[in-house]
Amino acid sequence: MAKKIAVLAGDGIGPEIVAEAVKVLSFLNTDMALGLSFETALVGGAAYDAFGTPLPQQTLNLCKNAEAVLLGAVGGPKWEALPHAVRPERGLLSIRSELNLFSNLRPAILYPQLVGASTLKPEVVSGLDIMIVRELTGGIYFGQPRGIRLLENGEQQGFNTLVYNESEIRRIAHSAFKTAQKRHKKLCSVDKANVLEVTELWRQVVTEVGKDYPDVQLSHMYVDNAAMQLVRAPKQFDVIVTTNMFGDILSDIAAMLTGSIGMLPSASLDANGKGMYEPIHGSAPDIAGQGIANPLATILSVAMLLRYTLNQPEAAERIEQAVNTALDAGARTPDIYSDGTTQVSTSGMGDAVLNALKG
Ligand code: NAD
Repeated sequence: MAKKIAVLAGDGIGPEIVAEAVKVLSFLNTDMALGLSFETALVGGAAYDAFGTPLPQQTLNLCKNAEAVLLGAVGGPKWEALPHAVRPERGLLSIRSELNLFSNLRPAILYPQLVGASTLKPEVVSGLDIMIVRELTGGIYFGQPRGIRLLENGEQQGFNTLVYNESEIRRIAHSAFKTAQKRHKKLCSVDKANVLEVTELWRQVVTEVGKDYPDVQLSHMYVDNAAMQLVRAPKQFDVIVTTNMFGDILSDIAAMLTGSIGMLPSASLDANGKGMYEPIHGSAPDIAGQGIANPLATILSVAMLLRYTLNQPEAAERIEQAVNTALDAGARTPDIYSDGTTQVSTSGMGDAVLNALKG
């Protein structure tokens, strides 16, 4: 039976970049007889417009029944005034929690061809290859109680809850240690244990789990220092594991080290390796519909899908190699363009990768 891939293009540049990623995956599906089938569904603002909810039941069912989910991005100004419960981003958070995708892998790799696109000096970033493991279904983005309430003195008060159970910390720690074992065996756990009791527990549990992985060198760092170290000397890191909100922020910093947010993929995995794969950037409403978005983050997300869910490392490497070849040939979307290279459109970049795959 064909293995189903749920394709959720979403909003803004989502449909444009996902089309290129599907183009690449479809080619490999035929070329390597991967036995995949594709089924599309609405999510985010597009789903709200059609069904009044950012995550219709049929979309959720498709995600649950599929081997993996390939997602573009959601959100945009059109839906910003909606109540929180039906905002596009809520659709994404719901998929993550409904599918129990607690482990978010976010690589930040600087391609040698793009050293000049980073805002940092070449000697600080060249050769950069970090993996951020972000806890994705807990912490302050999900903690209850939450809301905005009216105090007795008439003043409004906003509140959220940062909460982690021991078991939630334990499973993300295992995921991070295993990831480190496959890389350079260095894990840095990022917390704010000097101020937040919840991350004091985080540090304690990560340290305990570390006893099962004596081959991995574990260190701890406060989040404010980690933010600073990421821009001061990012190559000191191999794998970073951290909470949902800290990971959200740190991975965007790491993204910028690589020059463009349009280059970075991500995987969100459950305990069995099932996952949702998406670029780390948003729906980029400022450039949507212009055919200039960089599709490489989404194409590289397909490579992660092949590696982590479908167990097809050879197919994953072919995509990564093809991206390298396209960059070597000088193909650049505007976000990574520099003198001496060739500016291409979103589909032009997809074609450059496809041509490299075809050899
Ligand atoms: P964004 O990532 O969409 O855009 C930030 C900047 O990066 C913009 O200037 C944009 O043009 C540029 N950019 C992003 N992706 C690019 C690409 N592939 N190629 C070239 N340039 C690219 O972040 P934002 O502007 O803060 O958010 C826009 C919308 O996206 C909001 O509604 C936000 O909530 C949503 N969002 C969604 C996700 C997601 O779907 N996972 C993540 C972040 C933000």
